[in-house]
Amino acid sequence: MSGAWHETEVATMAVEAVVGANWGDEGKGKVTDFLAGQADFVVRYQGGRNAGHTVINEYGKFALHLLPSGVFHTGVVNVLGPGVAIDVAALLEELDHLIRRGVPGPTLCVSDRAQVVAPYHVLLDKYEEERLGKARFGSTQSGIAPFYGDKHMKVGIQVADLYDPERLRERVERALEPKNVLLEHLYGKPPLSADDVVAELADAAERLRPFVRDTGTMLQDAVAHGKRILLEGQLGALRDPDHGIYPHSTSSSPLAGFGTVGAGVPPHAIERVIAVTKAYATCVGAGPFVTELSGTDAEELRRRGGAHGEYGATTGRPRRVGWFDAVATRYGAQVQGATELTLGLLDVLGYMDEIPVCVAYEIDGKRLQTFPVPAALTKAMPVYERLPGWNCDVSGVRSFKDLPREAQQYVTYIERSVGVAVGWISVGPHRDAMFRRTTRRAA
Ligand code: GDP
Ligand code: MG
Repeated sequence: MSGAWHETEVATMAVEAVVGANWGDEGKGKVTDFLAGQADFVVRYQGGRNAGHTVINEYGKFALHLLPSGVFHTGVVNVLGPGVAIDVAALLEELDHLIRRGVPGPTLCVSDRAQVVAPYHVLLDKYEEERLGKARFGSTQSGIAPFYGDKHMKVGIQVADLYDPERLRERVERALEPKNVLLEHLYGKPPLSADDVVAELADAAERLRPFVRDTGTMLQDAVAHGKRILLEGQLGALRDPDHGIYPHSTSSSPLAGFGTVGAGVPPHAIERVIAVTKAYATCVGAGPFVTELSGTDAEELRRRGGAHGEYGATTGRPRRVGWFDAVATRYGAQVQGATELTLGLLDVLGYMDEIPVCVAYEIDGKRLQTFPVPAALTKAMPVYERLPGWNCDVSGVRSFKDLPREAQQYVTYIERSVGVAVGWISVGPHRDAMFRRTTRRAA
């Protein structure tokens, strides 16, 4: 025991989290793929195949859903921690897809404590969104809310359960009892048979077997030996069930703090929290979005944004777009515990003469600079300041000093208004279009 204690004391523990400061789709996949070049482990710790992390590198363009964005680096061990919703079929399909496209087979480990998405989770997600009609959440319908619901109701199925036939059958039968009542009597659909569900899960189990590990011990050892671990968050701070725009939140915490739980690393090991944000704002799915644009302004930003327009990497849905929201981002960075920001998609704003930035909200005639509770947020109106645009293409720039003065000012303004230094700037969707913000911050 004292040996282990001694080891953790002397080793440099470098765990970093790459997380979203906003509503998701900030460019975490791109940033993680870039930083993974220096990492030993890349770990997803929550969410599931509802994630859509775009990575563009020498192998092409990919939308990763379940796989961590370290899979393009052969030296990286990619881990799906206990907090992730494992959809076995989707995971293996994604892995096959990568290999078919010439990516060297990545090292992948799936926690034996993670839980699996069962066929009924996907069905219930779909039927519930249909039932809600116009009031739907805009779920990706990949079973995520019913999955986490079951986890908290204690009727989930752990990966390790898949290899214990008696326990598996007992768990499935127990989970199905209330679900079949819902399926038949709320949704008017046929009930599911435990035999069919067990057979499907048993088949998935065999295919998953080569990847299953005690990832908790693996990562604790890695921390003790000073390995470099990147935690990759899904979605963003404002989708956190506790701190976000509940009920338009996701079902697991996308906060860096939850990384210690969902991955299984000691809280004190997280040294850096890199909160990823965009030079403007996007939001997929429902919920209050104060700086949202409509009409031709929205169309233009959507068309110019992202890699080929702002469309969901998982759903293909057009993303809601708006101007940079300093109130929401300051709050997002705060709840993430951000030690630095990555400011991405700066290249997109090159067409603007002036760029509005939301510096405060107005609610019932009162000006507010703190992010309100969801009940008040629906009434918030944006208060804008306008910064000069740079009116040129900065996608080829690779250093802060080579950015036009107005773009430098924009970066400086954002870090001041968020209260966190920008560590990295991204000016294009490709892995290489990224550089360190090395120039000292203006006083
Ligand atoms: P994630 O879910 O946080 O990984 O982000 P997504 O991949 O869902 O969305 C980010 C979008 O922006 C994708 O289309 C990326 O290819 C694109 N992207 C990321 N960084 C940049 C950038 O600096 N410039 C541009 N133009 N696109 C970027
Ligand atoms: Mg995304």
